[in-house]
Amino acid sequence: MAARTGDVLEIIDPATQEAFTTVAAAGADDVGAAVAAARRAFPAWAALNASDRGALLRRWADLIISHVEELAATEARDVGKPLSGGRMNVFIAHGIVDYFSGAADKLTGVTLPTRSPDYLGLTLQEPYGVCAVVLPWNVPLVLTAANVAPALAAGNTVVLKPSEVAPLGPFALVELARQAGFPPGVLNVVTGLGPEAGAALTSHPDVNHISFVGSTATGRAIMGAAARNLVPVKLELGGKSPNVVFADADLDVAIPAIVASITENAGQNCYAGSRLVVEASIQSEVVERLAAAMSAVRSGPWDADLDMGPLVNATQYRRVTEFLQQAPADGARVVVGGAPGDGGWYVQPTVYDKVEPGMRVVQEEVFGPVLAVQPFAGTAQALELMNGTDFGLLACIWTNDVSRALSVAKKVRAGQVAVNQFHDSGVIGFPFNMQKDSGFSRGGGYNALREYTQEKAVAVRLLDRP
Ligand code: NAD
Repeated sequence: MAARTGDVLEIIDPATQEAFTTVAAAGADDVGAAVAAARRAFPAWAALNASDRGALLRRWADLIISHVEELAATEARDVGKPLSGGRMNVFIAHGIVDYFSGAADKLTGVTLPTRSPDYLGLTLQEPYGVCAVVLPWNVPLVLTAANVAPALAAGNTVVLKPSEVAPLGPFALVELARQAGFPPGVLNVVTGLGPEAGAALTSHPDVNHISFVGSTATGRAIMGAAARNLVPVKLELGGKSPNVVFADADLDVAIPAIVASITENAGQNCYAGSRLVVEASIQSEVVERLAAAMSAVRSGPWDADLDMGPLVNATQYRRVTEFLQQAPADGARVVVGGAPGDGGWYVQPTVYDKVEPGMRVVQEEVFGPVLAVQPFAGTAQALELMNGTDFGLLACIWTNDVSRALSVAKKVRAGQVAVNQFHDSGVIGFPFNMQKDSGFSRGGGYNALREYTQEKAVAVRLLDRP
């Protein structure tokens, strides 16, 4: 039966597996009301001068940073990640909102060359109108900031649908935005199930732009909805990101980073380093050191603040344990882990070697702490393995040879490349780009403002009669 106003969803603590609160289960009517509120708020918000929009975003950023501990605990409990992981996500979310508070009044168009001095050509960057933002459960604070802040900075209004699995962090951020003074209707949130609230929002005829972060399968459905209404869509989907380790790599730096890349958030990150492509001459040393480091990863509930929590829910637990059964049956060798943890939705950090390129554990997103190791001989084979899945999110290259690093960076099919680090730490406004089945997006840096605007071209003939 379709959700109706007043229906609720239970929110489960992944550590205890018990419901600790409820949120509204929005139906089509609630979504319609939110879109209507966003539509009403749009003209005044778009007309507000960009510096004033930026100032409101700055107030929001200030409130986020002054609520670090509450927000960190909310995210940690909702998703099941250690408290320090929640805290790191608050800092990242704050950094993103702060970035776009400064960027809001720096969005510019261009002037164009003309065939004679009697003409002027220019472009205007204009907001779309009402933007729908549909998010997954794994990093809700960061993803809310990354999609909502640039949309608002560019003058759009937003209807946000967080995941039904972990909506509390986005709720808390929206409440802080209200306290910061955003006018009513500028930022709206609806919670509910994907096929109900999500589908109602992404197929709503009065939505002008859709941002979706989630699985590749749902991304395809959302793109279908966008096609029916002919609205632009930004998709950030799954990944199967490789760490490639050359023989000259600094293993003291690489090994802990590779372990963190697949155990952070229990491997439930789109950019998780779920494949290790390692030069054959150092394979046994790397695998041995990895096995020791993975065995030392400590698991526990969010408030014990260890290295890793449980998986988020029963569905995710079933999915990951199916992979743990299938990978050895397909011929992979368990180096370490390979089994559920001690009760609950915990699983052991797991490393497989002796995997073949066609195996599911190499090709599919597990979304758990499961790493597949593939040896290579020569850069050409490394690239073949790195590029050997349908995904194209992040690739990490470990080597001290700068020419080789840059050559691989140019040839790998990924939206983002990191060298001698996992991901983008140290770079401000790093674009969160995707290729292949990982989607397409210009999120992250300044270009995100362009993502949330449409360009209008203006041609003027100057009739200057004295
Ligand atoms: P999901 O696709 O199941 O759900 C994502 C969101 O879509 C939820 O809010 C859900 O309610 C909604 N939804 C589901 N069906 C819908 C429909 N028919 N119409 C409209 N909305 C619908 O994904 P998930 O399990 O919540 O998240 C895990 C996935 O997210 C992984 O694949 C992961 O890689 C991906 N992810 C990607 C990025 C990125 O930036 N590329 C970041 C984080 C997570």
